[in-house]
Amino acid sequence: MTRDTPDAPMVTILDGKKIADLRLEILKEEIAESGISPRLATVIVGTDPASQMYIRMKHRACEQVGIGSVGMELTEDTTTGQVLNAVTQLNNDADIDGILVQLPLPKQVDSERVIAAVHPKKDVDGFHPFNLGLLFSGRPRFVPCTPLGIMTLLAEYKIELAGSRVVVVGRSIDVGRPMAALFTNADATVTLCHSKTKNLANEIRKADILVSAIGKAHFITREMVKHRAVVIDVGINQLNGKLVGDVDFAAVKDIVSAITPVPGGVGPMTIATLMENTYRAASLRTCDPVW
Ligand code: NAP
Repeated sequence: MTRDTPDAPMVTILDGKKIADLRLEILKEEIAESGISPRLATVIVGTDPASQMYIRMKHRACEQVGIGSVGMELTEDTTTGQVLNAVTQLNNDADIDGILVQLPLPKQVDSERVIAAVHPKKDVDGFHPFNLGLLFSGRPRFVPCTPLGIMTLLAEYKIELAGSRVVVVGRSIDVGRPMAALFTNADATVTLCHSKTKNLANEIRKADILVSAIGKAHFITREMVKHRAVVIDVGINQLNGKLVGDVDFAAVKDIVSAITPVPGGVGPMTIATLMENTYRAASLRTCDPVW
């Protein structure tokens, strides 16, 4: 907890970095005690610097917790068929528990076909339509890492979800849609907003819990946010050479009850959750080969 000024109400900074580090420590012990040797395979196509950085961070996290990792690097001009071949090879590799295809893929590659080609039992990103279907039917198995990491963060800070009014801005498959499903499963009342939403600011102002996953620097201003709301900022944007979120953190933080920083909020939780999903895939496979 931090206090801004003597009169300002307390704001909780939801410290994703701290929680992620703690969870990685626990996971490392669990893996060491389990006798299981989980293995993650990553596939990257092209040389996008941001994607390369994310892949490096994921491999580093694997190393930190004792998950083996292999990386497939394909050139920028790779075809859909070639990516599908790489995924099939990993699906058939008995030593691989989880497969992660780094998105976005180059324009010529059919991302939907690639996502659907990953075996649902190795789909540690949770993007396969089968796993998304399970999530939306209220029986989740593998859940996309960013929204699941956010649920973990909220649980760690004991933030009440049942009956809360939640507004999610952004309806992507990796964040907004699964986020809305997770909150629905947790008995919150959810509004999912996007670029065609009318009176967006009015919708956002109703939120007890606001999740912004738009990708526009400082899009969410102080005037849009309800007093004492919990604000989760997924956005990663560059502004004047600095990494910032979708939310104008400095302007908003003294009116909310809790808020994630950027960086150090949602990002680390995403990576920790990927590690947890990979260990889960390995344990399920090891304990029950026909699961
Ligand atoms: P995306 O696929 O580009 O989706 C953006 C969403 O925002 C779309 O649904 C879009 O609406 C909506 N949107 C865009 N402009 C809007 C506006 N003016 N008003 C209302 N809605 C608007 O992005 P994403 O993959 O979800 O990522 C969103 C942001 O989160 C990015 O900055 C990304 O880098 C970041 N991110 C961070 C993490 C992490 O771990 N921290 C993980 C994933 C993503 P339409 O559907 O109508 O186009």
